[in-house]
Amino acid sequence: MTEFTCTRCGHSDRQPLGTRPFNDERGARIAAEVCTECWEDWKQRQMLLINHYGLNLRDRKARDFLYRNLDAFLFDTGDQADIDDSLEGSVSW
Ligand SMILES: [Zn+2]
Repeated sequence: MTEFTCTRCGHSDRQPLGTRPFNDERGARIAAEVCTECWEDWKQRQMLLINHYGLNLRDRKARDFLYRNLDAFLFDTGDQADIDDSLEGSVSW
């Protein structure tokens, strides 16, 4: 087994995601560099963002917004959108 260290959390005792969540360069990078736990964390965050901002994923701008946040979340590429915690519990699922 080759040594794996997650780019996001820095743990080296976890498993890489291994499968590409997207069929592109970003997906390949995530599969190789991000652990399964961090990917689960992102999926939780993505759900929050979708609900918080009422994102319609058929909308290209909404997808771009999510990708920007994904990159920031997993690869620390910049600022993440804020989720107002005071609204917690009032966001409909
Ligand atoms: Zn990780």
